[in-house]
Amino acid sequence: MSPLSSYNPEPHVVLFPFMAKGHIIPLLHLARLLLDHRATVTLFTTPANRPYIDQSLSDDDITIIDLPFPVNIPGIPSGIESTDKLPSMSLFLSFAKATKLMQPNFENLLQTLPHVSCIISDQFLHWTFESATKFGIPSLGFNGMSAYSSAICRDASVNGLLSLHESPDEPFTLTSFPWIKLTRNDFDYPFNKRDPSSPLFDFIVDIYKALSNCYGLLVNSFYELEPLFVDYLNRESKPKAFCVGPLCLTRPQKVEPVLQNKCRWIQWLDKKLAQGNPVLYVAFGSQAEISPTQLTEIAGGLEESKVSFLWVVRKSGTELGEEFEDRIKERGMVVKEWVDQKRILEHEIVQGFLSHCGWNSVLESICSEVPILAWPMMAEQQLNAKMVVEEIKIGLRVESRNGIIEAESLKNKVKELMEGENGNEVRKRVKEVAEAARNSIKDGGSSWHTLSQLIKEIHLQN
Ligand code: UDP
Ligand code: UDP
Repeated sequence: MSPLSSYNPEPHVVLFPFMAKGHIIPLLHLARLLLDHRATVTLFTTPANRPYIDQSLSDDDITIIDLPFPVNIPGIPSGIESTDKLPSMSLFLSFAKATKLMQPNFENLLQTLPHVSCIISDQFLHWTFESATKFGIPSLGFNGMSAYSSAICRDASVNGLLSLHESPDEPFTLTSFPWIKLTRNDFDYPFNKRDPSSPLFDFIVDIYKALSNCYGLLVNSFYELEPLFVDYLNRESKPKAFCVGPLCLTRPQKVEPVLQNKCRWIQWLDKKLAQGNPVLYVAFGSQAEISPTQLTEIAGGLEESKVSFLWVVRKSGTELGEEFEDRIKERGMVVKEWVDQKRILEHEIVQGFLSHCGWNSVLESICSEVPILAWPMMAEQQLNAKMVVEEIKIGLRVESRNGIIEAESLKNKVKELMEGENGNEVRKRVKEVAEAARNSIKDGGSSWHTLSQLIKEIHLQN
């Protein structure tokens, strides 16, 4: 027990999101959700990430502290403090490891804060769990993944399944989930290549070890979506999993006056709504790297499908060419800026999402009742795509040949999702799942209840 003088009637939670949009966004929702549960919140970040966070939390009473980001990391240009700004994802590991240089500053500042009940931080900042232990503060880890993907990764690794199979496309099943057929190709490097000598492999092992000492794992999902996988995590692995999502359903912040003017893509969606032309939203998250050849095939497939589409092209947009945009201008729109994806998905004319299946995108699609055309690219997206198509049945999947999705095949799948019978089935199903999601976060719902209990438990620890 802490001395009575430092006892805080409200729990005080310290949040530290990893510097990547897909990891920051859900924890900003969580910050707001914690306020709704009467906690006080202090959030750590770095100077270059600060403006985005300040803007996203501008309505809320949250203390934001920035720690200087380490300088002179080989390969990483100065000023880049987020993995979505890296020149190449091959620098990911150097970036993630360098964050540990912030530990002394983090610990110094931690000691100046009023009594901290709990630290919630990303698994990629696993050194923060060490700091928590040092100061006797319980920690909760966040990995931004579904329970399905966490459970499969765990089961595959403890059973050594990835090392048993010679060929990367030889199917195998997992002891705990015999109905799921996997291949090594469903896993990202270093597991798909069976490369235990990779430094990334050691990094992942370190994460697993660090996480197992946390008080809990916060899962951005809801129990009803994947009960078997949540139960598996709680039965077979440590720490306990707490499903508190979908975090994207947390009450939104009030829109900043400057953003209230409708941006051109929302105006365009309004026009499509008036014309009654359903729109396919196309976006591959904040980090995907798409080759010029692949980009051309996507453009061809979308154009030939004759479907209306809104395509957010982030890193490689300049390679598309003006002729393409000119040709499709009646039917399609290409956007190269950062968009408010949730707002796009929520627009009623958006009726399909060609997505890389980043977990946030999957949840946002579910909550907006939009079925998915799954095109996984990296990290655990292959597993998310399997879950979307085979387990929760809210989407279809594009097929690749020699690592490329060809225009013809994309065209057919787009038409199937937007106009076909299979598309209708998954569209019907996603509405049911969305309702379950909304129920889970209501007062009394499973996620609401889990978070309330967790806060109580943590408060009792102090
Ligand atoms: N996002 C957005 N605007 C963009 C690109 C991405 O709002 O222009 C958001 C998207 O809504 C999601 C997050 O960024 O919340 C991306 O996370 P996800 O897990 O889908 O993919 P990642 O970027 O981590 O690959
Ligand atoms: N930003 C960030 N991390 C960085 C660099 C920038 O979070 O390492 C933030 C920056 O503060 C700004 C936002 O990302 O709020 C957008 O950056 P940019 O102007 O490069 O626009 P983009 O086209 O990438 O959306």
